This record gives sequence, structure tokens and C-alpha cells, in this order.
Amino acid sequence: MSDAPKKKLVLLGATGSIGQSTLRVLRAHRDRLELVGVAARSSSSALAAICREFDVPHAVLSDEAAFLAAKKSGEFPSQTQLNGGSDALSALTTLAEADIVLVAVVGACGLIPTLAAIEAGKDIALANKELLVLGGEFVIEAARRKGVRLLPTDSEHNAIFQCIEGVPNKHLDKLILTASGGQFRDWPIEELAKVTPAEATQHPNWSMGPKITVDSATMANKGLELIEAHWLFGLAPERLEVVLHPQSIVHSFAQFIDGSILAQLSPPSMAFAIQHCLLYPERAAGVEPTLDFSQTLQLDFKAPEAGRYPCLELAYAAMRDGGCGPAIFNAANEIAVARFLAKEIGYLEIPKLIERTLSQISTRKATSLDALLQIDTEARLLARR
Ligand code: NAD
Ligand code: MG
Repeated sequence: MSDAPKKKLVLLGATGSIGQSTLRVLRAHRDRLELVGVAARSSSSALAAICREFDVPHAVLSDEAAFLAAKKSGEFPSQTQLNGGSDALSALTTLAEADIVLVAVVGACGLIPTLAAIEAGKDIALANKELLVLGGEFVIEAARRKGVRLLPTDSEHNAIFQCIEGVPNKHLDKLILTASGGQFRDWPIEELAKVTPAEATQHPNWSMGPKITVDSATMANKGLELIEAHWLFGLAPERLEVVLHPQSIVHSFAQFIDGSILAQLSPPSMAFAIQHCLLYPERAAGVEPTLDFSQTLQLDFKAPEAGRYPCLELAYAAMRDGGCGPAIFNAANEIAVARFLAKEIGYLEIPKLIERTLSQISTRKATSLDALLQIDTEARLLARR
């Protein structure tokens, strides 16, 4: 048992894949962590079940219709105060009793509630990457000004965070993000046109939500993660690299100026990174089996094949550009993936739609958050056409 007071957690995206892994960590560490708020978009029954299991006092369904239906059906326990609408997310992340907010909603909708939480002085565990790609500059500046922790929960960034803790920035040469290469890594490129949504939402190593699984296949995910790393660790684009690692056991590398490289290893489960962030700076027994070196373990690494991952190349270019290209890239990718999953466009049209959207909007740097949100809206409208 720990003597420290329990950390009070707000979990955005409680019913999703990261949300579910977080609940497993919470079940194992009830003496250290307490859930004081949960949010989902519209999965009311699943959210109500979480409120019952963890006695959660505050819940939000951001979808207004789902909220009204849940109110009517009375499926939430009486001790849970249920609110609805997207403004309710920011009210939840700024709850007076909360210490830390784990942001595990999917997409840039996480930006405003996260900024609100930072302004309210909450530590942030960040699984969501889209919000940093859109508003990284504003998030990093606010976190620095308020002195809150921004704990990287995405597995690559969590690995790097663990490798460089206590290292002076001048000792760091570069960061090398590992990538599985997705489920079509070994398919002949000419076969990719036939990829279906059902195939693109199955990942060989990780069990994740549909959007990030498609992003892993196209490697838009690694593109978003490069930009995420740029903001979290303050390195210029030319000091950020990607290497394919099909086993997903080495979660990333930090290379120092003397040529030494450190890595963090664990089996492919998000529970490791989630627990590291929630208990930080403490550690405790994990909820997953560890690597078993009595079994033969093979680790392979190779450079991504040129021409196979146009989304990754577009993200690199947007990041090097330095303006609001990353925001446009992200918005267009979110729409392209949604349209692919809705069978409106084919798999190979995802990068084409992103490229077309990037070519239609000026990537000049946005000078305010409002201007940035306007660019995000404009990019989404264009990508929907
Ligand atoms: P998911 O689709 O499984 O779950 C998304 C969750 O967010 C659900 O609870 C959903 O109800 C909620 N949500 C979506 N839109 C919302 C809105 N507008 N308002 C309130 N709630 C909303 O997604 P996931 O795979 O858990 O991924 C979540 C985030 O974490 C993504 O940004 C993803 O890139 C990142 N991430 C996921 C993994 C993983 O293993 N799943 C790993 C690293 C990073
Ligand atoms: Mg990742």
C-alpha cells in the first residue's frame, strides 16, 4: 500500500481503447488512483457501467442527443452527475478536485478541454496526438507558463521520456521513433488500392481504435507522432527519424551526441505507458506480463520503403514547412480516414486528399488560437468536398 494521497483522475475517452487499458491500470491501483470524472462521445451504456464500477461522481456525454437519451433512460447511477455537450468536457477537465487529466479522446476535439485543464493547473497525461499536431505551440506555451506536467502517454513518446529523463538537452543528438509499418507493410504496392475498411482496422500487434489503426497502416500515425515529438521534446525536424520495427517491442530510441543509444522495451500494450504516466514519478507492479527472455526474441529494424507511405512524407514536409501545415495535414487526415471508413473514398485516396487540401490553403503560421481553429475548420470543409 502507498502512503501518498490518491491522485484524482479525469479520463476523457473512457470507453475507447486507451480508456479501457486505463481502467485495467486503475483496477490494480485503487490505493493510488481515484476516478473523479469520465467522458465519452455517445457510448452511454459503457460509460454508465464505468460510473457504477468506479463510483464516478462526474460524467459527460459530449453528443447532445446521446446525453438527452441517457438522461431520459436513467441508466446512470444516482450518485453520478451527468452533463452533456462539448462545453461540458472543459467543465470536467477543470473540476476543482482533479489532479490529472488523461486525454484519450480521438481527434483534435481534445484541444480545447486540454487547454482548459492546463489553465486550471492540472497535470496532463497525453495519449491524444492530434491536439498537439493542431495546437502544439499553444499547449506547450500554456503548460510551461502554468508549470504543469505534460506526460507523454503515446508509447513512442513515453519511451523517449523515460530514456531522456534527467539528460541535458545539449547531450541529445536525435530521436528515432519506431513504427510497425502497419498491416500492409509487406503487400505489393499495386495491391493497396484494394484495401477495405475491414482490413485497415485490424492491426497485427496492437488492439486500438479504428482511426489510429488506419493511421498506422498509412503511417499518417507516425507522421503525427513526429510532429508530436517535435513539440514535446523541442527538437528540430531534421533530428527526428523513423525506423520500421515489426515486433513493436522497442518503443523508440534516444541517441546522444557521443553515439550511445538508449531504448525502452516492453510488450505491445499501452498499459505500460499509461501506468507510467498516472503514477509518475512513482512506479509500481504492472498489470501485464513482462518480456520473457527465456523465449527466443527477435528484434528487426529497417528504414521505411520509399514510395510506400506517402502520408508519412506529407507529414514530414508539413513539419519542415514550420507554418500551420501540420494543422491542415491533421484535419485533412481525420476527414480522409472518416470518409474511407464510410466507403466514400478508396485507401489510396487518403494521401491524395491530404495533399490536395494542403495545396489549397496557405500554410502561413496562425498568430492566434482562433485563427488556427479557423484553418482547421476550413481544411475540414475542403477535405469533405
Ligand atoms: P477509440 O476510438 O478507441 O476511443 C475514442 C474515445 O474517445 C471513445 O471513448 C469515444 O467515446 C471518445 N470520443 C471521441 N470523440 C469524442 C468527443 N468529441 N467528445 C468526447 N469523447 C469523444 O480511440 P483510441 O484508440 O483509444 O485512441 C484515443 C487517442 O489516443 C487517439 O488520439 C489515438 O491516436 C491515441 N493513441 C491511441 C493508442 C491505442 O493503442 N489505442 C496508442 C497511442 C495513442
Ligand atoms: Mg504511438
